[in-house]
Amino acid sequence: MAMRIGYLEEHEQFRRTARAFFDREHEPHLKRFEKQGGLDKAFWCSAGRAGLLGSCIPPEYGGAGGDFTFQAILAEELGRTVGSATTGSSLMVDIATHLLVQFGNEEQKRRYFPGILSGEIAQAMPLTEPNAGSDATAITTRAERDGDSYVINGEKYFISNGATADLLYVVCKTDPSQRARGMSVIIVDPNTPGVERHKIKMMGWGSGDTGALSFNDVRVPVSNLLGKEGQGMEILMGTFLGDRMQIAARCVGAAKAALELTLDYVRQRVVSGKRVIDFQNSQFALAEIRTDIAVGEAFLDTCLLKMRENSLTFDEGAMLKLWTTEMEGRVMDKCVQLFGGAGLMDDTPISRMYTAARIQRVYAGTSELQKVAISKGML
Ligand SMILES: Cc1cc2nc3c(=O)[nH]c(=O)nc-3n(C[C@H](O)[C@H](O)[C@H](O)COP(=O)(O)OP(=O)(O)OC[C@H]3O[C@@H](n4cnc5c(N)ncnc54)[C@H](O)[C@@H]3O)c2cc1C
Repeated sequence: MAMRIGYLEEHEQFRRTARAFFDREHEPHLKRFEKQGGLDKAFWCSAGRAGLLGSCIPPEYGGAGGDFTFQAILAEELGRTVGSATTGSSLMVDIATHLLVQFGNEEQKRRYFPGILSGEIAQAMPLTEPNAGSDATAITTRAERDGDSYVINGEKYFISNGATADLLYVVCKTDPSQRARGMSVIIVDPNTPGVERHKIKMMGWGSGDTGALSFNDVRVPVSNLLGKEGQGMEILMGTFLGDRMQIAARCVGAAKAALELTLDYVRQRVVSGKRVIDFQNSQFALAEIRTDIAVGEAFLDTCLLKMRENSLTFDEGAMLKLWTTEMEGRVMDKCVQLFGGAGLMDDTPISRMYTAARIQRVYAGTSELQKVAISKGML
């Protein structure tokens, strides 16, 4: 593998480990994941043993204390797998660990970090609700103080890893008279009485976990509050940026994988006595795809460097998410076209990747919301 600009040897070592892990533990097991309806604890624990989880956890808690580039590498390598078109975000919910690193208190860190590192504790970040998606401040899930407890009531929808996670960072209103300032993040064990959840069947991601959760008089100790009351929006803003970066990295990885699959196909498919790659139109389409990927990779790598230097702005993160998700869509569309009818057969890798790519422009802020953020920076 050629070394990319801005990556250190330790990053490249991590990339090799991640790639070997996905080749060994992910790709050969897709049929099993599909049959059992998703990933299992054994998969998470083997990711933990490989050292892929909790990469940002500081050394004093047993982690490597790595920067966000490690998370982006994990995302790009997951995106590079054909299987991620069916298993979805999976390991990437690990970016929630940044919440605990930044805002967790000592007791919360000691309680959860070991399980996060080992893969025993998988996380989810329930913010979205049936009536509050793009406008996060419109959430109505309520956490009311009752003595030493919070009592939580509300519904969460479209939550990555939501139906199977072992640890939930539930975004609630602790002061419903306020919008952003009334929001708080509360840690909830999904086994607490009153929590119910199930998977929502989504387009693509057949073996993924996009969950719906309901909270009915869920009582948790006040010590489960992450950070301070009313700090919810501040906590979320950091996650939004990280989420956009990891999605961008997945887009770059997926576009590369699609190009590889397409090259293999057009090199061997013969039409009218010519290989499909020998048509100039095919070569132009492939040239456009390659260029798109190169631009996406350069933009991603620049943003990662800026993130390491603490100079990445919110609108740059929005531009990256907007551009790379749209780029992935363009690339998948061109690849399917080059496959012809074979690209439209259900269950082929390229048709799955095409379908899965559509999700990227919607979650973690739709393309329109990224444009809103980018324009705000100019107003
Ligand atoms: C697979 C998947 C995984 C997800 N994982 C999580 C998760 O882990 N945690 C979580 O909390 N949420 C998660 N989500 C939810 C996701 O973040 C929301 O779906 C997304 O923010 C959009 O909200 P919405 O679906 O309610 O769409 P809506 O907000 O209803 O938007 C509908 C349309 O209106 C447009 N629109 C809205 N506001 C504006 C505006 N101001 N200007 C112009 N256009 C606008 C949107 O762009 C969109 O086209 C996930 C969603 C999916 C699909």
